[in-house]
Amino acid sequence: MSVNEIPYKIYLSESDIPSTWYNLRADMKNKPAPLLNPGTGQPLTAEEMSGIFCEELVKQELDDQTPYIEIPKEIQSFYKMYRPSPLVRAYCLEKELGTPAKIYYKFEGNNTSGSHKLNSAVAQAYYAKKQGLKGVTTETGAGQWGTALSMACSYFGLDCKVYMVKVSYEQKPFRREVMRTYGAQVTPSPSMTTEVGKKILAEHPDTTGSLGCAISEAVEVAVKNPGYRYVLGSVLNQVLLHQSVIGLETKAALDKYGIKPDMIIGCAGGGSNLGGLIAPFMGQKLRGEADYQIIAVEPASCPSFTRGVFAYDFCDTGMICPLAKMYTLGSSFIPSPNHAGGLRFHGMSTILSQLYHDGYMEARAVEQTSVFEAAEQFARIEGILPAPESSHAIRVAIDEALKCKETGEEKTIVFGLTGTGYFDLVAYQKYNDGEMTDYIPTDEDLAKSIAALPKVPGVE
Ligand SMILES: *Cc1c(COP(=O)(O)O)cnc(C)c1O
Repeated sequence: MSVNEIPYKIYLSESDIPSTWYNLRADMKNKPAPLLNPGTGQPLTAEEMSGIFCEELVKQELDDQTPYIEIPKEIQSFYKMYRPSPLVRAYCLEKELGTPAKIYYKFEGNNTSGSHKLNSAVAQAYYAKKQGLKGVTTETGAGQWGTALSMACSYFGLDCKVYMVKVSYEQKPFRREVMRTYGAQVTPSPSMTTEVGKKILAEHPDTTGSLGCAISEAVEVAVKNPGYRYVLGSVLNQVLLHQSVIGLETKAALDKYGIKPDMIIGCAGGGSNLGGLIAPFMGQKLRGEADYQIIAVEPASCPSFTRGVFAYDFCDTGMICPLAKMYTLGSSFIPSPNHAGGLRFHGMSTILSQLYHDGYMEARAVEQTSVFEAAEQFARIEGILPAPESSHAIRVAIDEALKCKETGEEKTIVFGLTGTGYFDLVAYQKYNDGEMTDYIPTDEDLAKSIAALPKVPGVE
């Protein structure tokens, strides 16, 4: 089939929505390291985890053997409301760039929450309901995860308590109101409603908050309230599992036209969209069936892959969560307040960390003004107003397409367009007013938080 016959949007039909998730860990020779109990330094048991997470999700978290896991019918029905998501051929962008590269993006912003996070939110809410729980607690940074979870909880009739990073709570009142419209209770973090929040506020009264703080608060509330469990929108193995629906659909759409990508690009905060997008491709790569260049893109102001260390660390600032072995800047790292573009987490998925460590993927760090330049260019020519997070991937996709222009290579580039930017207009305003600046942490900044990494008993 000639290139011209490939439509602008490759839609799959409803029956092409995957009925199983793909568990990438099953094909990894070096499995991601287990979560540790910070007190004992021993791997967390299912029993210990079940005080924090829903039982079925604990099973998924620990399962690194089963390649395909059935998606329950109720979740498949929910997926049908907004999936399959389109894989778009960026013909207009290609033309504008004058590149011989072929650019595709998988657009996950076509639902009210505006991002891919709904793919895991619905799964986590479903399992909580099935277990007979009253509700769930969580943190949210920019607000996409909280919004997605609010939607999923209202659908299944679950209570939803969201701790929202204070700077976002103030900068993104509209997202907060979407969550409340779906029935969630939203608290700015750090707050005086938890012990850990009070402690953090006593030490740093002016803090604008961080995801790490908000996680500590949400976990505390879940553990202290019977009938509640904590849910997390990224980083965890279970979340990458649910997000594999993105990659499975992408692969099915490409296969339909016999397209083989050379390069797959995604932004990386905690790693869930990227882990999901690359899952089936990385699976082929791990099994030696195909090769792809895979690139994680992160902000230069929160560069966990490119400048972090591969070590056990807390997932939260309050140091009450389990330890994960990951690329991390240290759990006390808080990105500069001028950082507007999301992707603020200090660590990274253990799955992606292991794959990166083993050389199966690369990472690039990009500065936020260049990210917003790419966002603007993309919005003007492709029509979609992208989320700042997604725009990290756009930046590198454009850079790579421009390299192809120089070399004449007709590479096929696929990137994840994770969401829309309608609620990120304070950041766009800063950019449009010429007030956006870049801040790259100094080596000393990073050395401080990295030096504070926990000493784990029995672990190097
Ligand atoms: C949360 C979010 C991200 C980053 O999270 P990952 O877990 O790394 O995928 C990226 N894009 C959007 C739109 C988001 O909401």
